[in-house]
This record gives sequence, structure tokens and C-alpha cells, in this order.
Amino acid sequence: MNTDVLIIGGSAAGLMAGITARKHYPNKKVTLVRKEEKVLIPCGIPYTLHTVDGPENNIIADQAVTGNGIDLIINEVVEINRDNKKVILKDGEEITYEKLVLGVGSQPLVPPIEGVDLKNVYTVKKDFDLLKEMREKVNKKENIVIIGGGFIGVEFADEIRKNPNTNVTIIEILDNVLSLVCDDDLCLKAEEKLKENGVNLLTNSKVVSLKGDKEVKSVVLENGKEINADMVVIATGVVPNTKLAEKANLNYDKRQGIMVDEYMRTNDPDIFACGDCVEKPSYFGENFKAAWLASIATNEGRVVGANLYNLRRKKQKSIGIFSTIVDNMALGVAGLTKKQAEEAGIEVVVGHAEAVNRHPGSMPGAQTLGATLIFQKYDGKLIGAQVYGADSAGEFLNILGLAIEKQMTAEDLATLQVGTHPALTSSPVPYQLINAAEDAATKLNV
Ligand SMILES: Cc1cc2nc3c(=O)[nH]c(=O)nc-3n(C[C@H](O)[C@H](O)[C@H](O)COP(=O)(O)OP(=O)(O)OC[C@H]3O[C@@H](n4cnc5c(N)ncnc54)[C@H](O)[C@@H]3O)c2cc1C
Repeated sequence: MNTDVLIIGGSAAGLMAGITARKHYPNKKVTLVRKEEKVLIPCGIPYTLHTVDGPENNIIADQAVTGNGIDLIINEVVEINRDNKKVILKDGEEITYEKLVLGVGSQPLVPPIEGVDLKNVYTVKKDFDLLKEMREKVNKKENIVIIGGGFIGVEFADEIRKNPNTNVTIIEILDNVLSLVCDDDLCLKAEEKLKENGVNLLTNSKVVSLKGDKEVKSVVLENGKEINADMVVIATGVVPNTKLAEKANLNYDKRQGIMVDEYMRTNDPDIFACGDCVEKPSYFGENFKAAWLASIATNEGRVVGANLYNLRRKKQKSIGIFSTIVDNMALGVAGLTKKQAEEAGIEVVVGHAEAVNRHPGSMPGAQTLGATLIFQKYDGKLIGAQVYGADSAGEFLNILGLAIEKQMTAEDLATLQVGTHPALTSSPVPYQLINAAEDAATKLNV
């Protein structure tokens, strides 16, 4: 079979690259190959356990592929033959291409802990059948332990605790949950919410083994403590899928991902790569790590899709904007935390403001919304933001990400023009983003 553009991967990166390629190059034939019959919306995975009532309600519809004029093939690519510009599928079929896109994603990192292969021990795979099995079990188990208190572990715990008969415990090696991505005060707010809802937290705790006879029975900590567990979910990070790249002699790093140039081309100019399988430089430089997110994967897909036959867009360095929700408290981060900046030797000034998100506060839907903004002391530029409280925190963070990218200062933000309405936003007087910037601006000006 022949195609012009061949995309491997049907999740965030591959799909977005395909849709963008069709828009920019409408005369080219675009084909997408993906392994799975049903593709999960990856970010919705935790919510299939309870909120959306099963993985069948968390699917990227095939219509998103075929409805955009992309041919869909369900199969696995096992080899790329660069000399003949073709790929080989698991069943021996071959597809020749002009341009190839790797959007092959990532898979869970399995820590080297004794007992991880016991029954009822799960990693968070983007796998429909596995998730269905997990959902069935979650509702029957008494003691579920989650290893890893990052945002995936926290989201799983917050879902599982909705079953009143299940005892949920998060075990986190660091001082607080979410502490790789948030400053301590925000971590503590999230912990408070989790505890309020019955989630047990064991921080500063290292898991050394899982015990059981065929089925998991307990989790053993370094301090000797043993915690009952009839199900364990491991959420300790992901690793990029680099096997195909390795076989095809493309440049890659096992932990960082496939290497690409500023136009997202691999070392083969006709092979592009995007999403979790690609290395992610941070906007803030080599000393910082960038998160792997669906929002970044789609951003990269848009760059790749547009560049296939004409180099139009440059790869952006990752600012790292993400949010989550614990019970009814949204929270999230854009850019660096105070901790990360200070550890890297950047002197910062922090501004904070908190107010109700309606005016007057007696309006329906009123909820607290707080913002902490982190500015570089030497030039007053915004380098980080943390927002919590009402659901609008998510969109607030997106705006703050833009402010970071556009290198806005505390003065710029303290005099920002905004629109407000009693039923929709805070009053313009205590408006959180502006007042947090004003708090920092006054500290910067002394
Ligand atoms: C539980 C969970 C919650 C998350 N929540 C968020 C969130 O709230 N916000 C956010 O921005 N990010 C979130 N993420 C991260 C986000 O899911 C990933 O960044 C995103 O899925 C990356 O997309 P991708 O297309 O690069 O890779 P993947 O989603 O890993 O998809 C890879 C695709 O490639 C296919 N593939 C791989 N190898 C082959 C092959 N050889 N042949 C054919 N097909 C192949 C796979 O089948 C799959 O379709 C979450 C992740 C998880 C696990």
C-alpha cells in the first residue's frame, strides 16, 4: 500500500499531526496506523473508575480520524525501512510513504520493586481492556494502595475514594504529594482535601517490596511498616517508546526520547516525531525538566503536521502548564515553582492574592480562587504561577502560561486590562491575578 503521509500513533500527538497535515496539505493522502481498536482519551483515564462510568465513555472517536479525511489502519508497525521509505506491519503488510510521523507515545515506568508482577498490581496503561478490568476490581477491593503521589496518583486516589467501602492510601517517597510540580503550600492544600475525603497519605515513605502469594496482600516500606493491600496501582512516571526509532537508527535517548531538530525532524529529514516519544527541552533551560502532557503532544503535532512539506513552524520549548482537581478544589501550575527557581539559583519575588470568584460573594457558584505569582527579582519577569480553588483555575493558568511566554513583568500584570461580571468573575477590585502581581510589584519596588 502507498500513502503520502504516514502517521504511527493514534493518540494526542498522532491525531493532531494528521488533522493538521490534512489542513495544510489537502491534496496529500494521510494514513494513520495505531495499535489499539479503541483509543482512550489519556487524560480521562482516572475518571473512568467512577465519574464517567467506565472506559467506554472515555474514547477518542474514530470519526476524529476518518471524519478529517485520514485513512485509519488498526495494526502495529514493527519496523521502519528508511532506505525504501516503507514500514512493515505486524501481519507482514508494507506501507510506503513520502513523509513519516512518529507519535508512538510513552508507557508506564515500572520501578524495580520485588513483587510488581503479583496479581492485582497495575500500572496506569492507556489500555481499554486493562482499565475495564481495573474498574471492575476497584469496586470490590477493600484496601487499595497507590504508589506515587504525582498528579496521576492523586487523581486515581480521588476517584477511588468515592467508593465508601474502599480504603485508599497514597505512598509517596517525597515530603508531600505533588511536590515535584507544586510549592509546599499548594501541596498541603491538596493533601488537606485528600485527607478530608478519607484518603490516607504516607509521605516520606519508600516502598521496598510487594508481598503476597500470587495475589498482592501487602506493601512493605523501607522503615519496615507493612500496609494491607488487595490492589496496588503504580503511578511513578513514564518512559518514551523508542524501540522503533532505535531499530531504524534514529537518534534517541532511552529516558529523554527521540531527538528532533527545531522543526521536529529526526536525523532523517523525512521522518518527524511528536508527543511523549520525543525529548522535551524546557523553556527555562537545561537545568529544568519539562513535563510530558497531552497539551504539549498536540502542540507538537500541530508543528509537525504543518512542517511536513514546507518548514513553517518551530518547535516550542515547554513552559509546563497543567492543572488537576481534588474533590472540588482545582489547582495547577504554569512554569517554575519557587522551589525549582531557588534551587537553580534564581532569586525570586512572590506575590499572592485570594478572593471569591464572584461579586458579590452571595452570587451562585461563588468559590475561593487564589493565585501565587513568581517573578525573577533581577528583571521582574513572570517565571511561574500557581492557582487554586474554583474551576476557572485551569483557564487562569493558561493565560498565565502566555504571560510567562510573552515575558510579562509584575508591572505589566498589575496594570492588566480585564473584563469582569458578577456571575462570571471576581470583582475587578480584588481580582486575583492583578492583585498577586501588585503584591509582587510593591515588593520589587522597595
Ligand atoms: C492517567 C493519565 C492522566 C493524564 N492526564 C493528563 C492531563 O490531565 N493533561 C495533560 O495534558 N496530560 C495528561 N496526561 C499525559 C498525556 O496522556 C500524554 O502526554 C499523552 O497521552 C501523550 O500523547 P502521545 O500521542 O504522545 O502518546 P500516547 O498517548 O502514549 O499514544 C501513543 C500512540 O501510539 C500508538 N503506537 C505506539 N507504538 C505503535 C506501533 N509500533 N504501531 C502502531 N501504533 C503504535 C499507541 O497505540 C497510541 O495510539 C495524562 C496521562 C495519564 C496516563
